Amino acid sequence: MRAVSTDSKIAVLVVEDEEPIRSGLCDVLTFHGYGAEPVGRGDDGLARARSGDHALVLLDVMLPGLDGFEVCESLRAEGCQVPVLMLTARGAEEDVLRGFRCGADDYVVKPFSVAELTARVEALLRRSGALDREDPASAAFDFGALRVDPGSLCARSGTGEDARAVDLTPRDVEVLRLLARERGRIVSRRALLAEVWGYPNPDRVETRSVDMHIAKLRKKLGARSGSEAGDWIETVRGAGYRHPA
Ligand code: CA
Repeated sequence: MRAVSTDSKIAVLVVEDEEPIRSGLCDVLTFHGYGAEPVGRGDDGLARARSGDHALVLLDVMLPGLDGFEVCESLRAEGCQVPVLMLTARGAEEDVLRGFRCGADDYVVKPFSVAELTARVEALLRRSGALDREDPASAAFDFGALRVDPGSLCARSGTGEDARAVDLTPRDVEVLRLLARERGRIVSRRALLAEVWGYPNPDRVETRSVDMHIAKLRKKLGARSGSEAGDWIETVRGAGYRHPA
């Protein structure tokens, strides 16, 4: 099932010199079941990518040592066909074109959302055959009595006449996944912004967008019924949100 791996996880090389972004990317990849290897320089990235140990390379453009274009160009010139996802800056369309000319397979524009990044990563891994449909990121998971299916972007509850299905966005799925993982524990807005929204420095971002998103998601999910009556997502004043244990 896994193509390139050392410990049964799909290995992804992360070449990014900005530490907060690099560790943020690694956290997201690890969270989604991948093995992430961080590298902070272009020349080190090229050396590691040459090893053939990775199923995918996330490659920043501006890097010390060699820039992302040079790394990608060298890999292709050497016949290395590892999929490359470039991380480009907003408004730098010429970077996107240059990336493709250098042999990059796809790109995301910074700042990107976690949902967008993981979708691109998955698409590239499927295209290369490294990922099949049974990967952990697309597997359904439970959120209390809800069954969340990332593949069909839907949450189902109840059976028979009580059966109900709610449409979700990719970001809804990631919010529920994080809260489910931390079930019973408080998840701060900062953690949500970092892991789901992909902001490396979430202090600088309005936390209100998280509150608005959660409010919308709650409305969609409706209320829990029966003995567990209440909201699916609890607000913990001044601290964040929680999936009731
Ligand atoms: Ca950079």
